[in-house]
Amino acid sequence: MPSSFTHAFVGGALGKVCFEPKTSRRIILITIFLGVMPDFDVVGNWLGAGPNSMLGHRGITHSLFFAAIVGAIATKVVARELPRFSRRWWRLYLTFSFVIASHAFLDMFNYGNLGVALFAPFDDTRYFFPIRLIVDAPRVEYFIQWRTLYALAFEVTFVWTPLALYTWRGEIFGWFADVLPETDSVQYS
Ligand SMILES: [Zn+2]
Repeated sequence: MPSSFTHAFVGGALGKVCFEPKTSRRIILITIFLGVMPDFDVVGNWLGAGPNSMLGHRGITHSLFFAAIVGAIATKVVARELPRFSRRWWRLYLTFSFVIASHAFLDMFNYGNLGVALFAPFDDTRYFFPIRLIVDAPRVEYFIQWRTLYALAFEVTFVWTPLALYTWRGEIFGWFADVLPETDSVQYS
């Protein structure tokens, strides 16, 4: 794993943070999609690509090369009229590529036996981080199993929660400011 939920969440949260303070719902939906997209490569395995093939799972779609190319395509699709290499173009491009690459980085923490072909198509070595904490992908048929629950609990605790706190810090602080009495109105005697 990490689970698709985590990739989606991380993608959307990165999209929100990178476009603050004016993040549109459209940008968040696009970054959610881009965060999950590399895992569409499971189609390659269904079509017969071997487990360590570049066309199989965690192959080329999990590479930095893919992130760089698809980031540019996504920018073109989303903002067709935007002058290429303008500041706004770079902002969109770097965010989209970063979101796609975030998928591979998360997968490199997986505890399973399938690494990430980070430098495909130039090098088919599969990479992991030295620290591998995230339990490998829950499959649909195992969805209600302790291992899956553990994997999700781990991701929620160590990926979702810190990222959510950071992403929505403005809203959270705003909420506290609304809830707490204003210092001026508190009477001390
Ligand atoms: Zn993946």
